[in-house]
Amino acid sequence: MAQKLVAVKGMNDILPPDSARWEWFEDKVRGLMRRYGYANVRTPIVEPTALFVRGLGEVTDIVEKEMYSFADSMNGDQLTLRPEATAGIVRAMVEHNALYNGPLRVWTMGAVFRHERPQKGRYRQFHQIDVEALGYAGPDVDAEQILMCRALWRELGLVEGEDVRLEINSLGQSEERQKHREALIAYFEAHAPLLDEDARRRLHSNPLRILDSKNPAMQAMVEAAPQLTSFLGETSLAHLDAVRAILDAAGLPYRVNPRLVRGMDYYNLTVFEWVTDKLGSQGTVCGGGRYDGLFEQLGGKPTPAVGWGLGVERLLLLLEAVGPAIEPPVPDAYAVIPDAAALPVVMRALQALRDAGVKVQMHSSSNADRGSMKSQLKKADASGARHALIFGADELAQNQVTVKSLRDGSGQQVMQPLADVSTWAATLQSLT
Ligand code: ATP
Ligand code: MG
Repeated sequence: MAQKLVAVKGMNDILPPDSARWEWFEDKVRGLMRRYGYANVRTPIVEPTALFVRGLGEVTDIVEKEMYSFADSMNGDQLTLRPEATAGIVRAMVEHNALYNGPLRVWTMGAVFRHERPQKGRYRQFHQIDVEALGYAGPDVDAEQILMCRALWRELGLVEGEDVRLEINSLGQSEERQKHREALIAYFEAHAPLLDEDARRRLHSNPLRILDSKNPAMQAMVEAAPQLTSFLGETSLAHLDAVRAILDAAGLPYRVNPRLVRGMDYYNLTVFEWVTDKLGSQGTVCGGGRYDGLFEQLGGKPTPAVGWGLGVERLLLLLEAVGPAIEPPVPDAYAVIPDAAALPVVMRALQALRDAGVKVQMHSSSNADRGSMKSQLKKADASGARHALIFGADELAQNQVTVKSLRDGSGQQVMQPLADVSTWAATLQSLT
């Protein structure tokens, strides 16, 4: 036998029965987006490398060490597998002048790629739900997006405050960050012996990122560093207060975390994360914030915007740990067909049932022997179907089928006509 091929490290196959949880989750997300008026968009998985270097910032973890970048073997173009969705969406909006008629609320769902050390909740290909409100400046939309996350948690059966908690912060505007930056550099310089290599490298390029350091040896020093909050002007503070007032009125508890900075450089004003302590160090399920400068940075007109991204694998791990059990979907009916000669007639009837909305699984086998009536009925039972459709010789001679109840304990059998399945198809369907 030829040698087996395996998936690329850190990239997962999603197979049944696990895929049922994915579909269940995706259905909930689609419903949520419709209720909040967000329209679906889809952008390419591969983008010019420059998009992310310019969009995310050169001195970010993602751009420095996590991108899958390569030269197009045909023309040498520098390309990158998208490490996140926002930059591509903004590129598309600018390219198509899509905000010409006014602001847009959009969302997407798909694979993103980061070259990280694979571990539980951290993969090299993973999936994000990404939600963006483009062209809106007000704190109402920031709050809408945060509350939208809460609505999703509730629908998924997660308990806020227990399974997931909200942290928010304001990153202010660039002049405020500039002043804070100067104060930070002065502070870190005064504590230079305590800085690790990463921090020393970032001291002048991106000192704010040092606040995000996970090095335990630096924690105490980092915690005492000057906080951006004390550099925020009136307008920035008012924006944060307005977001908070809406969250307060909605009864949503949160913690203002002055050290929350997020992993991309494009954020300003509101930033937020939904965190859990049930997934070890992979504790951030969802994060987002305002990025009013990104459109201009990518060659567009100044356009205020706010968005969030959710890690689907992490959320599903959390749901597995604390959420409701998800039963894989089962067929309404399983077709038992002992005689292969009957297949043309039977399959025509099954088609009519499916056209009427019934979920039908047909008995098939791996060899010419289809198996006895008895063994097929066993398969019907194992399939989880609520009914067996028995296409035996006697039934077919009368142009009928026997419908046998498999789940209600009655074992009841009823003959139904094949001539007009629409009159009885509904009796096979489950309510869900
Ligand atoms: P972290 O601090 O855990 O690396 P991040 O700040 O890099 O997260 P974002 O860029 O904000 O993450 O991406 C949004 C979400 O995507 C995260 O909150 C997380 O749930 C998920 N995520 C990020 N990186 C990975 C990964 N390598 N594998 C799986 N999910 C991920
Ligand atoms: Mg990261």
